[in-house]
Amino acid sequence: ELPSMTSSTQELHLQSLSELAVTLQSKKASAVEVAQHFLQRVQADSTGAFLNVNEQATMAQAQASDARLAAGKGGCLEGVPIAHKDVFVTRDFVTTAGSKILANYRSPFDATVVQKLANGVNGQIGAGMVTLGKLNCDEFAMGSGNENSAFHAVRNPWDTTRVPGGSSGGSAAAVAARLTPAATGTDTGGSIRQPASFCGITGIKPTYGRASRHGMVAFASSLDQAGPMARSAEDCALLLTAMCGPDPDRDSTSLNVASEDFSTQLALPAGDKPLAQAGKGGQPLRIGVPAQWRGQGLQPDILHAMTQALSQCESLGAEVVEVSLPHAPLSIPVYYIVCAAEASSNLSRFDGVKFGHRASSYADLTDMYLRTRGEGFGDEVKRRIMIGSYVLSHGYYDAYYLQAQKIRRMIADDFQAAFTQCDVIAGPVAPSTAWRLGDNANDPLAHYLADIYTLPASLAGLPCMSLPVGLGDMGMPVGLQLIGNYLQETPLLNLAHRFQQVTQHHLAKPEGV
Ligand code: GLN
Repeated sequence: ELPSMTSSTQELHLQSLSELAVTLQSKKASAVEVAQHFLQRVQADSTGAFLNVNEQATMAQAQASDARLAAGKGGCLEGVPIAHKDVFVTRDFVTTAGSKILANYRSPFDATVVQKLANGVNGQIGAGMVTLGKLNCDEFAMGSGNENSAFHAVRNPWDTTRVPGGSSGGSAAAVAARLTPAATGTDTGGSIRQPASFCGITGIKPTYGRASRHGMVAFASSLDQAGPMARSAEDCALLLTAMCGPDPDRDSTSLNVASEDFSTQLALPAGDKPLAQAGKGGQPLRIGVPAQWRGQGLQPDILHAMTQALSQCESLGAEVVEVSLPHAPLSIPVYYIVCAAEASSNLSRFDGVKFGHRASSYADLTDMYLRTRGEGFGDEVKRRIMIGSYVLSHGYYDAYYLQAQKIRRMIADDFQAAFTQCDVIAGPVAPSTAWRLGDNANDPLAHYLADIYTLPASLAGLPCMSLPVGLGDMGMPVGLQLIGNYLQETPLLNLAHRFQQVTQHHLAKPEGV
């Protein structure tokens, strides 16, 4: 297919991923030129989205891409730039996970997801993307506003007095500000969906186990999952296809399921009612809205945007039905017990011995541990380590951790019951649009409560995404959350893509971008 006139003449940072791929393949611009264009934008950026760049490394990757393009041996996104959340380890760039304890840490290898998006793993061909740098995030991905970054906060490009969301706040801000056409994120309890929603972009967390966690700095291993953040469902489908797939030697929880070609599967029947036969057995696609998610505590402009988006889906042939997730409200206590427990264990590796920061003076080994960790971790990380150690300790394990695991199963079972009545679940991503920097800074509980809509799918390990469905009262973006059953990413991406074909919300961009 030939690029349309508009796409080939459009400025590089406004082109979609497939447009950029065509620009590169047809030699309208080289990978070096494309990388330079984006790096210039990164240099002029004032959102604080990037934590580090390494121009030399980026240029070397771009030159290698140009060589592959010249030889006709490129990957599917050869030479197209991407930036990675700073929890993915990278050989060419410092990796900090947003923490002082890893300041200046350089990994000896690339995360599997990073490799797959670049040169590929074990001689398999990768997507061929060029890395622009590493993106800011909450320390060890703990947070919802990116204000827990040990380095600096990120400003939302839609309103620079507001947060971009978190923990993948740098990823969302960088895509929204067109500093990069695509980014990786990680989602433990909402960290792809919520910042995507706050910044008006599209992001998807696949089924737990679809993407390898090898080389992702661990926060809560039973929940952590990588996913793409970009401008459209179409772009996310391309990235997700490249990122997923089994990694049995390096991540024992990775699923033994080949990655699907999510992009070609976007080709549903055309016509004005493309969703009329997109459900099970050729029935209309049924979208279930949890009764618990339409009311109390939800900002009215979000409810309004969500309702409009759902009626748009109905006009595309979908049916909206009510479902119930009775245990979903318990997700907050369950998640904050499970994630803290796992974090307290995962973060024990940061002891001043193996990597990262070590206190400069200390009396003995214990004192070295205490000082290193005392200096290296921020308040939120310390809070979770303490909660996690408490809930795992003798006498409290049964009362908290085991109890939480049981309710986690009930939350997952609620979804299975709901999926007998619908193909896809839809609801809000967060109870509010992006808040002001500094709001609730001393109230961690307020932030925990705001995770109410994203935590259930995380605890169940289900695929879920956020897509932009308009601007709310303050001119801030609103996202719609879609949740699918296990390995059912395709219906989510399809629904989002159909919606984006007939609406403009995903094309809206912040002023001045
Ligand atoms: N906001 C949630 C937390 O602070 C989720 C973070 C995440 O998904 N990494 O834990």
